[in-house]
Amino acid sequence: MKIRDILQQKKTTLSFEVFPPKTSAGWDSVTHATEEIARLRPDFMSVTYGAGGGTSEYTVDIAKNLQDSLGVPMLAHLTCVSSTKEDVRRNIELYQEKGIENIMALRGDIPEGGRTAHDYHHATELIDDIRALGDHFCLGGACYPEGHPEAKNRRDDLIFLKQKVDAGLDFLTTQMFFNNDMFYNFLYRARDIGIRVPIVAGIMPITNARQIRRSIALSGSELPERFRAIIDRFGSDDNAMKQAGIIYASEQIIDLLAHDVNNIHVYSMNKPDVAKGIQDALSDILNTED
Ligand code: FAD
Repeated sequence: MKIRDILQQKKTTLSFEVFPPKTSAGWDSVTHATEEIARLRPDFMSVTYGAGGGTSEYTVDIAKNLQDSLGVPMLAHLTCVSSTKEDVRRNIELYQEKGIENIMALRGDIPEGGRTAHDYHHATELIDDIRALGDHFCLGGACYPEGHPEAKNRRDDLIFLKQKVDAGLDFLTTQMFFNNDMFYNFLYRARDIGIRVPIVAGIMPITNARQIRRSIALSGSELPERFRAIIDRFGSDDNAMKQAGIIYASEQIIDLLAHDVNNIHVYSMNKPDVAKGIQDALSDILNTED
């Protein structure tokens, strides 16, 4: 099922993101964890591509497994920064053969050791290439409420985002953010510049102190004082930090829903207990119709 239809048909959606294993040795544990998350029956799930330490070949296999065995609509990510045009064409054919209908079209981070190919400079070029092959896929793209870390300024970032959407995106998903006001401000500016597609809010439940350092370094997201205090107080106790992280993320989501931001994507990081904790905290809230 296409995610654009789900976003259109349902008032609120809750979706989860997972990542593939680094090597074949991790396949069984990742399959087990992702299947457990899929059994929570989210509205859809996404599988990252080469991010979070995962390996790109497994992305489509995990997506296909969850879609076929548990019937969850899947979004498979695809990056282009180190790919040739030929690599991308082959990947798109593979996604289609495996029955994937939704692609998150990304540039990807520039690798530290340099790129192995230079055919693509921005995600917009990938979107152009996928759209040139026909209308088979529903396409999502990434956006950054606090600005992409490489952007000169937020205004230019937004102009490039508008170009990316106009190239043929059906929806956007945000980078993680911990301060909802940042998101509301971004949403206002995005609508003001003419971006009309649904914008799914990406929420990362921080469940241990090590994860926060890594996540902040990668995303450049601002950490509000309220959250810093939680880490200072509970960061050295894994169970307490996990509970506090789930509650913080749930409160962020409740505030978003209360402000009519109805599509929530949780970076569940292959942790079924975290995904379930959030879903349980929202069970009645997600089912309200008005
Ligand atoms: P782009 O949209 O191409 O933007 C990258 C930069 O280029 C921005 O600064 C933008 O302002 C600028 N730009 C865009 N167009 C132009 C132009 N025409 N001229 C000049 N500048 C321009 N990474 C992974 O490796 N795997 C994943 O699975 C993955 N999933 C993600 C999911 C989400 C929801 C998000 C938010 C990020 C994800 N990432 C993933 C990280 C992402 O790949 C990086 O943030 C990457 O640096 C940018 O990718 P993009 O698709 O947003 O790039």
